[in-house]
Amino acid sequence: MPANILSGKAIADLIKAETEGQILALRFKPRLAAVRVGTDPASEVYVNNKVRTALEMGIVSDHRHLPADTSQDDLLSVVDDLNADENVDGILVQLPLPSHINEREIVEAIDPWKDVDGFHPVNVGRLSLGYESLIPCTPAGVIEILRRSNIEMAGKHAVIVGRSNIVGKPLAMLLLKENATVTICHSKTTDLAAITGQADILVAAIGRAGFIRGEHIREGATVIDVGINRVTDPVMANDLFDGDELVKRLRTIETRGATLVGDVNPRDALRKAGNFTPVPGGVGLLTIAMLMKNTVTAAVMRREAI
Ligand code: NAP
Repeated sequence: MPANILSGKAIADLIKAETEGQILALRFKPRLAAVRVGTDPASEVYVNNKVRTALEMGIVSDHRHLPADTSQDDLLSVVDDLNADENVDGILVQLPLPSHINEREIVEAIDPWKDVDGFHPVNVGRLSLGYESLIPCTPAGVIEILRRSNIEMAGKHAVIVGRSNIVGKPLAMLLLKENATVTICHSKTTDLAAITGQADILVAAIGRAGFIRGEHIREGATVIDVGINRVTDPVMANDLFDGDELVKRLRTIETRGATLVGDVNPRDALRKAGNFTPVPGGVGLLTIAMLMKNTVTAAVMRREAI
């Protein structure tokens, strides 16, 4: 039987509706400030999507677009101004920043109470300790997909491929909190398939199109694909898709130059997994929904603490 598809859209829509309900119940409008430096086209799309979604949901949103040659000091002073502004509830500085900027110093300059990306060391530390904190949006979205799809986490073996600070590591902490037994794999892991093949829940956050194949997947496992990769080669699309989906993807490559795929080979996952998140239409949609939820959480936590 082909894998059950876990739709990110239905879950993201539900979280956004719940968050809108929370916003309506507040006596103020939460405010999100998005800072983008330079002209990276992917960052432009991401920030525009975030700002548009925020506005649609009743979150006041400012987009500050700074030139590519903005200095470290100038960017720090923008962050300082946003930290000091009592009306700003959430600050997101879109990564990656231009190479002359020290990203770590910028992330550490953001007020942890306004850190809606959950990347500040204070929030990372609180998450590791199991305390309430602002949680990075993509791993938080993975947990929402599992929880709201009634996929048991407690006592299950969750294997994460990828140990980045924005996905793999925080997700490991969240899955531990859900009482899963967690294994993290990375590029130096030997015999990856032997480990991923034991997973009840397998999460791929690698950044390599279609890397996880049938031999990595345990029969009936839940496979969560965090990856977002652009595929421009029709031969590669042939290896990933079948039937109508293949026709659709080849047409997208022809008309738009590329199609988006995850880190998991979908043809193999559909054949072998029990549940599978598609790309697009899976985890990616949750990331923005969780950012909105974090903005409201940040607004309530900070204003209650003042
Ligand atoms: P990253 O920082 O580049 O980390 C990739 C991880 O994969 C690293 O830990 C790396 O190991 C590991 N890896 C690379 N090659 C491997 C191999 N052959 N075998 C096992 N592990 C390997 O990437 P990221 O920022 O976590 O993003 C991962 C993917 O998720 C990307 O496709 C990205 O676009 C996507 N993403 C999606 C969302 C969303 O909203 N859906 C959000 C964020 C990221 P080492 O540590 O040993 O190098």
